[in-house]
Amino acid sequence: MKRNNKVIDYPVFTKEMVKDYTILIPSMLDVHMKLMKEVLVQAGYKCKVCDNFEGVAQVGLKYVHNDTCYPATLVIGQFIDALEHMEDTSKVALILTQTGGGCRASNYIYLLRKALKKAGFGHVPVISVSMQGLEHSGFKLDLKMATKLGVAVFYGDLIMYLYNKTRSYEITKGSAEELVNKITKVLAEKLKNGSGIGAREMSKNYRYICEEFNKLPITNEKKVKVGVVGEIYVKYASLANNNLETFLVEQGCEVNVPGLLGFVYYSLYVPQYDKEIYGGSTIKNLIYKGLIKYLEKREKLMIKAIEKYTSFTPMMPFKHTVNLSNGILSHAVKMGEGFLLTAEMVELIQTGYENIVCAQPFGCLPNHICGKGVMKELKDKYPLANIVAIDYDPSQTKVNQENRIKLMIAVGKEKL
Ligand code: SF4
Repeated sequence: MKRNNKVIDYPVFTKEMVKDYTILIPSMLDVHMKLMKEVLVQAGYKCKVCDNFEGVAQVGLKYVHNDTCYPATLVIGQFIDALEHMEDTSKVALILTQTGGGCRASNYIYLLRKALKKAGFGHVPVISVSMQGLEHSGFKLDLKMATKLGVAVFYGDLIMYLYNKTRSYEITKGSAEELVNKITKVLAEKLKNGSGIGAREMSKNYRYICEEFNKLPITNEKKVKVGVVGEIYVKYASLANNNLETFLVEQGCEVNVPGLLGFVYYSLYVPQYDKEIYGGSTIKNLIYKGLIKYLEKREKLMIKAIEKYTSFTPMMPFKHTVNLSNGILSHAVKMGEGFLLTAEMVELIQTGYENIVCAQPFGCLPNHICGKGVMKELKDKYPLANIVAIDYDPSQTKVNQENRIKLMIAVGKEKL
């Protein structure tokens, strides 16, 4: 097949496939993914979030070179493992988000297609979603759907934020998780029916989430506060970070994982910065600016709801966070998580989470620069900062990672 004079030698997800094909979504953030899935269902797609974890790294290693980024190994491994466990793969498609930036994450799609061929699944179409646009017409990510996915990110971030604020202090074991499941179900139902999108509805739902968490009985113990930053996949996916959040909670810590919204903002902010320095399309730039304005309004409502309906301190707005890396790392550093990673560490330190785990895939150069590379500078500026960088890849042992984290917690406990 030929498209725009390019020969296409891989299966394409067409409009005709929408009705019958099930789209597999890789796992990452549980709550966010559940909500996003409902947005896709509402738009007419059949979807399933992958829930296979056992042995996927080994499957990934079988089909991609072992010097490939760990997130790619896992995502590709999870897809192929899921396909291998299906009786019929003739009506299955895969969806992959790509950063579209200069990092290797922009090339995962080629690795995935190559791996699929090698594993005997060359007939499975892959939908690529990136800031640079979509490859195929069968999957339509219009402004309406993008807005709804954005709404799912807000709800997901708020739930994750309040869950982390309460789960370490719950009086009844498992009650915070139960509440998360209950709220996620309510919101998923709303998104499935196409509601919960407008500003007024979002505000109401924010209030509902906050009130529910505020009612949860918790203790008033003092715990070591630990922030988690890092490469986006390793930071959020329990599959990649060996259940880091749960481990920290079991060690008696309160955890704070900055939300996905920061990365969305960052992805919209970077092209604007580029435009200022290198030039580029004014129209695109205006669209990005408009989107940031939209996000800021919704973010304001979320912060207002946390302040008013809970006793918890809200997160900082992005327009504040974005400048926190100033004097340490320039905004021109934009590969991987770029300056955002540094800015998030500063935000955590300034809000009392001086103990930080910086989770990064082994050999991930961008995040070693923005994470490990700025640790000395951060410690000089904030002497109470207690940061540990942990590498994740198939050859790292969990025990080794956890022992290093335990040392960091021990220092945190001493300070507490
Ligand atoms: S950020 Fe790191 S792990 Fe992610 S694609 Fe880039 S190099 Fe690989």
